[in-house]
Amino acid sequence: MTAATLPLIEVRGLTKHFAAEQSLWGTVRKVVHAVDDVSFDIHAGETLGLVGETGSGKSTLGRLILNLMLPTSGTVRYREHEIFEVDRDRMRRLRGEMQIVFQDPFSSFDPRMTVREIIAEGFVHTDIRSQAARNDRVAELLRTVGLTGAHADGYPHQFSGGQRQRIGIARALAVNPRFIVLDEPVSALDVSVQSQILNLLADLRAEFGLTYLFIAHDLSVVKYLCTRVAVMYLGKLVEIADRKDLFANPRHPYTRKLLSAVPIADPAQRDRPRSLLEGDIPSPIDPPKGCRFHTRCPEVMDRCRTEEPRLTKCGSNQLAACYLDG
Ligand code: SF4
Repeated sequence: MTAATLPLIEVRGLTKHFAAEQSLWGTVRKVVHAVDDVSFDIHAGETLGLVGETGSGKSTLGRLILNLMLPTSGTVRYREHEIFEVDRDRMRRLRGEMQIVFQDPFSSFDPRMTVREIIAEGFVHTDIRSQAARNDRVAELLRTVGLTGAHADGYPHQFSGGQRQRIGIARALAVNPRFIVLDEPVSALDVSVQSQILNLLADLRAEFGLTYLFIAHDLSVVKYLCTRVAVMYLGKLVEIADRKDLFANPRHPYTRKLLSAVPIADPAQRDRPRSLLEGDIPSPIDPPKGCRFHTRCPEVMDRCRTEEPRLTKCGSNQLAACYLDG
């Protein structure tokens, strides 16, 4: 593969275990299997949706990719950089290219800082130095996300949830990123505001050539923005496919359950039979043996309880980890 065709990000065997319980002598007694042996690529200019219930490991995976935490094992290559091996200076420069937008930006804002100060924090990674240049750039970024320069002197608590998310996006854009992890960016917003933020994210992707990893707990929001979708269950990737294939022909029983939960907008389809997920996701401490979904899978077979299925190609751009597909 030439540099031009290499994926922007290559994730290989990424694993993160946390100690959940330690003895007085520091011996780890219980381990949370947050992310287990996950591999996939993200190509420049695409939006990869990462979907799964709360507790599936999506946010941990997003933070690992940004090197905001170290893995237990595995690698992440961003462009030509193995990000867990680069030195601190290089990582500081790469941070400018790799940003994150949180579900609740309010909790990541310092309430004593004005919007201008919050956005301008990112300028340490740029050559914007003078106060006049900083003010101009803040006003420009606020206009880019649908606010005005007059909002620069406000404080976070003076804004609505949708406006705060726009400020969070402006802060991420301040460092001219190439890649942004969007961690449930619309989950806390009203439906009407959700679509405004999704439209804004789509416009920004086109205008600045951005690449997104879009984390969500349901499939309805990723349908609009994503080119491909990866589905996670209890720390494992269970399906990854082009968006159209995944929505038209989901191969993993868990994906089918998630799709069944998507609200039906078309009144003509309201009577479509739905089969919703039953029970809660098991604890990531001591996850089920074999296929991790077997305790909730309506199609479980004997081997599913002891043997772990691997992600296997089941369509031209579709992989699933299920014995029903091979
Ligand atoms: Fe269900 Fe077995 Fe497929 Fe797992 S491998 S999703 S338990 S059929």
